[in-house]
Amino acid sequence: MAPELIGRMIDATCAAIEGNAELLTRLDSAIGDGDHGHNMRRGFQEIAAQREQLAQLPLGQALQKAGMALVMKVGGASGPLYGSLLMAMGKAAGEVPTDAQGLAAIWAEGVEAVKRRGKSEAGEKTMLDVLVPAQGALRTAAADGAAPGEILARVRSAAEDGLVATKPMQATKGRASYLGERSIGHLDPGAQSSALLIAAVCDVLEREV
Ligand code: ADP
Ligand code: MG
Repeated sequence: MAPELIGRMIDATCAAIEGNAELLTRLDSAIGDGDHGHNMRRGFQEIAAQREQLAQLPLGQALQKAGMALVMKVGGASGPLYGSLLMAMGKAAGEVPTDAQGLAAIWAEGVEAVKRRGKSEAGEKTMLDVLVPAQGALRTAAADGAAPGEILARVRSAAEDGLVATKPMQATKGRASYLGERSIGHLDPGAQSSALLIAAVCDVLEREV
């Protein structure tokens, strides 16, 4: 993948987190401890600081290094989870082509790593409720042979729908699970950050296709 494209993805994802840190913190205040915005901001500021270096690397190495930055800097539950996502994607990225089907396979490895690390599945009111359906949409659209713009539109809307679907859920994983039924009626902060990151990547790729 071209260094310019990696650089643009870094810029877009960092801007999405920076511009929405307060939203993430507000959501986490309702059903967690109010630190998700701060946590994500710290991590993506580190990625922004490493931008020039990361953009020069092959995609797989860039993802692995960005994942390590998130593990080191984000903290909380989400740091190791997002770190596992990117590191597993980076490992897989060295082995398959970066066409739509290859990207679906790479992303699937990342999602499996989050599940293992979090001992969680979709349906538990977490980031997986966005990551799993969005990855599924990419896999299906790629298998259908959909045009790139159509693939991105389907991924974007699956992520948005996944986020909205966390609202009526009762959390069974993470800090929000301590609230039991009181976790119902709020969007999950990690699902919101995942939706923002996916939308940011789609924005960049939409300009490419
Ligand atoms: P903490 O909960 O330690 O304060 P954050 O606030 O940064 O960490 O992140 C909370 C988010 O992490 C949740 O909204 C949820 O999406 C995600 N999360 C927490 N536990 C898990 C888990 N076991 N599996 C998947 N995602 C999880
Ligand atoms: Mg928190």
